[in-house]
Amino acid sequence: MSTIVMKFGGTSVATVEKIRKIAQTVKSESVNYKIVVILSAMAGVTNELQSLINKVDFKAPKEADLILTSGEQVTIGLLSMLLKKEGIKSIPLLGWQIPIITDEQHEKGRILNINNENLNKYFQLYDVIVLAGFQGISTHGHITSLGRGGSDTTAVAIASSIRAERCDIYTDVDGVYTTDPNIENKAKKINKLTYEEMLEMSSTGAKVLQTRSVELAMKNNLTLQVLSSFTNQKGTYIVNENELIENEIVSGVSYSKNESKITISGIPDKPGISALIFGLMASNNINVDMIVQNISQDGINANITFTVPNNELDEAKKIIKAKYDELNYSNLSTDTDIAKISVVGMGMMSQSGVAEKMFTTLAKNKINIQAISTSEIKISVLIKKIYTDLAIQSLHDVYNLDKK
Ligand code: ADP
Ligand code: ASP
Ligand code: MG
Repeated sequence: MSTIVMKFGGTSVATVEKIRKIAQTVKSESVNYKIVVILSAMAGVTNELQSLINKVDFKAPKEADLILTSGEQVTIGLLSMLLKKEGIKSIPLLGWQIPIITDEQHEKGRILNINNENLNKYFQLYDVIVLAGFQGISTHGHITSLGRGGSDTTAVAIASSIRAERCDIYTDVDGVYTTDPNIENKAKKINKLTYEEMLEMSSTGAKVLQTRSVELAMKNNLTLQVLSSFTNQKGTYIVNENELIENEIVSGVSYSKNESKITISGIPDKPGISALIFGLMASNNINVDMIVQNISQDGINANITFTVPNNELDEAKKIIKAKYDELNYSNLSTDTDIAKISVVGMGMMSQSGVAEKMFTTLAKNKINIQAISTSEIKISVLIKKIYTDLAIQSLHDVYNLDKK
């Protein structure tokens, strides 16, 4: 019998009634397949656990991951119970029971290995394995989490490892849209999207798939389907580029309010300064995204601006302050009132004028651009948070995304 992976996110498992519905969906697939079901915690639960951790206000990564990953234990238990009630041979498992081995990076663990032999042993006894998403066990034997939204990555990693026939990601929208349908009601569902485009959309804020899950799917050439757990429609397929007949110039607009801006001004303009700053960030596992450097008029000093995830801002600031003697800057400032807006599309590689259209549209709406970064298939700009919706809606219009 072939195997499929079905992943259900937080809103899909938000109540026992919803989990009951999932049990029916899984039951109907179990006629034809062995199944690994991956579940998230109930919507809002991981946030609540994080706020409990924040109240303690003490850095303890092992404890934090132990707490953060506990929500999934509840949902897998409930689904497995409901499946058994339906007469299905099901077993609930936590990450360490497979085991899903990760590195030592707490709160953003990377999967190093999955024990397939064990999974196969379970399949000799059970038809459905209900596995907790978002968690693993480090090589040192501690529970790790895979970063927020990490259940997507669990699903893709398992599907790749067991060479599943399908990997379906069930969520609260019925596919990937041209932009977040909760912000722009003219957003259109996309039928097929390349890994590269999805990767850019995820990494610029479209949380419908965790960025790492798309990276992993691309690496393993695993087709993903994003679909609704509430309707019975086909979703969006994330595929290899050669499966697409024609590339869209712009496929989507994404946004992120999860980044903060750091500006270090008046630093000596000499070789090695950038290497020092970004080396410090890298060695402390802080993800730097946009970087802008400009040289001051005197040619002696420079200003460097860059963005980091909101939850890493304090740490980044502390590290820079601690190196004041070496960096010798005149001012260090931060700004959390920013949003990053990105337009993404494979066709950008061969078409010019996309950036100009973006900048003109923002200018017409009196939205000031604070920083720009580009890749072959993406343009991102930093703007003030308050203009997020206006920027998304006007860009969605100007690239005719509602006509798709
Ligand atoms: P889950 O809990 O199922 O993992 P998430 O909340 O992580 O679901 O992701 C689904 C959400 O992603 C949607 O509700 C939507 O608001 C958001 N989203 C952002 N950009 C997009 C997009 N381009 N297409 C679809 N959904 C998007
Ligand atoms: N429950 C985790 C989170 O909220 C993992 C996930 O939902 O994918 O981030
Ligand atoms: Mg998610």
